[in-house]
Amino acid sequence: MHDCIFCKIVRKEIPARILYEDEDILAFHDIRPVRPVHFLIIPKAHVATLYEANMDHHRALGRMLAMSGELARQAGATDGFRAIINCGRVGHQEVYHVHMHVIGGPEPVGPMIVRTP
Ligand code: 5GP
Ligand code: ZN
Repeated sequence: MHDCIFCKIVRKEIPARILYEDEDILAFHDIRPVRPVHFLIIPKAHVATLYEANMDHHRALGRMLAMSGELARQAGATDGFRAIINCGRVGHQEVYHVHMHVIGGPEPVGPMIVRTP
């Protein structure tokens, strides 16, 4: 049993606005959205970062991607979105339970990483 905040959301110990749940994954709205559509999809099992992910997790990780488009559309992102997984210090990961951000419009979300000239 993990003490992490997303494990607590999985166990319904702390509230979240849940969009989707099955035996492997959970999707819920980000508490501090950066765009009108901003939700997270996580594996229910605790996996700290993509470094710890392996083939034991392939079903949950596959479902996260496979459900992203349908959930984005349902959430109102009907003209595109960006899916992001931050990993570790360099990736600026803040919560150490793997999560995929789904971020959508209506306005374009901008370039992925701003190029410095
Ligand atoms: P990271 O930087 O780790 O990729 O992103 C973590 C995300 O989790 C942030 O966008 C942050 O707003 C979100 N977050 C952190 N704590 C909570 C929480 O308790 N509930 C929800 N719904 N989102 C959270
Ligand atoms: Zn966790």
